[in-house]
Amino acid sequence: MRTLRRAINPRNSQAVALASSGLIAAVAALWIAGGSLNAQNGSHPGAPGVPYGNMSAIAPIGVGIDKYFDVPESAKGPAIDPAKGYRTEKLGDGVYMISEGVNQSMFMVYEDGVVVIDAPPTYAARIPKAIAEVTDKPITHLVYSHAHSDHIGGAKALGGRPIIIAHVETNRRLARQNDPNRPLATVTFDDTYRLSVGSQVLELSYHGNAHLPGNIFIYAPKQRVLMVVDLIFPGWMPWRRLADAQDVPAYFEQVKKISDWDFHTLIGGHVARTGTRADVATQLAFMEDLSAAADRALKQTKPGEGLNPADRPNPWALYDHYIDRVALDCVNQLTRKWSSKLAAFDVFIWDQCYSMEQTLRIE
Ligand SMILES: [Zn+2]
Repeated sequence: MRTLRRAINPRNSQAVALASSGLIAAVAALWIAGGSLNAQNGSHPGAPGVPYGNMSAIAPIGVGIDKYFDVPESAKGPAIDPAKGYRTEKLGDGVYMISEGVNQSMFMVYEDGVVVIDAPPTYAARIPKAIAEVTDKPITHLVYSHAHSDHIGGAKALGGRPIIIAHVETNRRLARQNDPNRPLATVTFDDTYRLSVGSQVLELSYHGNAHLPGNIFIYAPKQRVLMVVDLIFPGWMPWRRLADAQDVPAYFEQVKKISDWDFHTLIGGHVARTGTRADVATQLAFMEDLSAAADRALKQTKPGEGLNPADRPNPWALYDHYIDRVALDCVNQLTRKWSSKLAAFDVFIWDQCYSMEQTLRIE
C-alpha cells in the first residue's frame, strides 16, 4: 500500500508504469481519497505547506482557534435581565431601542399607537411585551429596514395586522422569497417616505445599494435618532466581509454619509449597545486604514513569489497564493493599531482584508 501511495504522485515516473499495468482504477480511488503522498516531504497535493513568511499570529480563515480575543468592556452593552431576555432603552421622546444582545430594533410611541421598526426573529414575539411596559397602545405600523431575515423574520410573530412600510426593492426581494414569516409591505416607496403619526415623525430615505438593495436610513428628527442596519457596529469589527456588503465602494460612501448626518444616537441593528458619533468616526477610520493597507499590500506583493514551480501553469493557484499573501500583509499592517481597539478584530480581520483587496483589485 505504501508503495502504491508513493507511486501515484504525478511527479513519480512509476505512476505511469502502474497505470499502464491495469491499476488505474485503484490509483484513481486512492487519489480521490486524498491518499496521494508526495515522495519528497511526505505530504500530498492540497495539504497545508510551510507557512508564508511573516505569518500573522492571528489564525487565518478555516483554522480552528482555541480562544478568541477577550471582548473589551467598551464594546459590551448594559446587562440584560435573563428572565426577560431583552432590554429596552429610551432614546428620546417616545423612541426606544430593544435588544437581546445581538440584534437591535426600535419602536416609536405616538398618541394613538406604536410604530415598530424591524422584528428580529430572536425576540420579535416579546416585542409586544416590551411595548406594554411603556404603553398600552396597539402596534399600528411596521417598518422594514431591509429584506434580510435576521432583521424582519419575526414580522409574523409580532402579531396583529400593522401597515407595513418598506422600500420597493425590499418588496421585490420578499416576493421572490415567499416567506410567510416576512409578509409583503403594504406601502412602498422609491426615494423618501415621511411617516407622520400624531406628533411623531419618522423620515425614511434610500441612498442606493451598499449592504443590500432596499436597505434604508430611518431617522427620527425630533429625537435625532438614526437607524441604519448592517453598516455600523459600535465598538466592534464589522461583520465578516464588510458585513457582506454587496457594493463595497458604496458601503464606504454610506458610512461617510452617516458620519456627516445630524444624529445623536445610532441604532446599527446588531451588537449589544447603541452607537455614538465617536463610534461612527472610529469605524470610518478603521475602514480607511483597511483600504490603505490592502492598497499597499497589493502594490508590494509579487504574484508567484514562493509558489511551487509545478503550480505556475495553474492560474487559479497562482492567484490564490498571491491573494493569500496580500491579505496576510494587510492583516499584519493593521494588527498593532486595531487589534485592541475593536472587539472581535481577530475573528474577522482576515475576511476584511480579503474583501478589501478584491474590491481594490477588480472594482
Ligand atoms: Zn442585512
